[in-house]
Amino acid sequence: MFKVIKYQGRARRGQFSCAHGGMVQTPVFMNVGTQGAIKGGVSAHDLREIGCQIELSNTYHLHLRPGDTVVRKMGGLHRFMDWDGPILTDSGGFQVFSLASLRKIKEEGVTFASHIDGHRIFMGPEESMQIQSNLGSDIAMAFDECVENPATYEYAKASCERTARWLERCAAEHERLNSLADTVNPRQMLFGINQGATFPDLRVWHMDEIAKLNCDGYAIGGLAVGEPADVMYGIIDAVEPHMPQDKPRYLMGVGTPSNIIEAVSRGVDFFDCVMPSRNGRHGKLFTWEGTVNILNRKYETDPSPVSESCGCPCCRSFSRAYLRHLFKADEVLALRLSVLHNLWFYNELMQKLRNALDTGTFDEFREKYSGKLERRA
Ligand SMILES: [Zn+2]
Repeated sequence: MFKVIKYQGRARRGQFSCAHGGMVQTPVFMNVGTQGAIKGGVSAHDLREIGCQIELSNTYHLHLRPGDTVVRKMGGLHRFMDWDGPILTDSGGFQVFSLASLRKIKEEGVTFASHIDGHRIFMGPEESMQIQSNLGSDIAMAFDECVENPATYEYAKASCERTARWLERCAAEHERLNSLADTVNPRQMLFGINQGATFPDLRVWHMDEIAKLNCDGYAIGGLAVGEPADVMYGIIDAVEPHMPQDKPRYLMGVGTPSNIIEAVSRGVDFFDCVMPSRNGRHGKLFTWEGTVNILNRKYETDPSPVSESCGCPCCRSFSRAYLRHLFKADEVLALRLSVLHNLWFYNELMQKLRNALDTGTFDEFREKYSGKLERRA
């Protein structure tokens, strides 16, 4: 299911397969389609055209709307959104702790109010597994608590001990659901999630505990929530030696192109982030020369594409001047073209990282681009 085919330092070039799609080449960036669509008017068909290997959808959102039982009736999420490649669903934990209000956490799970209409919902490890089973994703994520940043040591310790107990319940329920005769995707995998806030000793203790459960992969969660990048890299440095070598590693919700390059250098294989689509919708575009704010006056009569070296559907046909006009005129097409460009850029970034690992030139690539991609073009 997962194999590291080459190392350069701690950076890993690997291959991964699951119930849908062909071989996934890692390191990989998962394109985020929160509610079964990519914000900005981008469909699963578009994802194929822009080099996406894995789509990611959100358990919390799809449970609230349209309801996971509706998705199940429609044949599962793959059929519902017409995407035949791999899908990862998050556990809902992050949204429960960031979006929902009136939260009450107990050993059994969390009661909270829907951010849409305020109605009370209970979600624990079993419910999260049942929802993800109904969605029929290829990779289900364990239900975890994302503690607020900053958190006290005492709270973070109690929380990650509970998240470790929750993973045992997730694994048992996941196994039961996969064995049911009418399950949507009987080959669904389960990834465990490492927590422990910004305390390296808690992170390491928790990682050692969850590694015992032999999950299909392991994620580092609860980072990129406002802590400095160096703190995040320090946590990865502490946890990585404790992550199984033969399982995929996923850094959740990260990040900028530079964050991704730095995490790959520390042995991470999977990424996801709303940044390319969110920034795109605000006219902030990524290019190999640095970032571009297309709303800038200097692009008003600029006939060149966003990036000369980009092969995306936007850059193939349209000028900076036209894209800027679409934003100024509030045309929906502005969002679509910008999101397609930014996701193309992220998918191409991963392709170039893989090429660098294949040819043994990762260090040179990191040196050349890690700083440059953060700066304005
Ligand atoms: Zn482009």
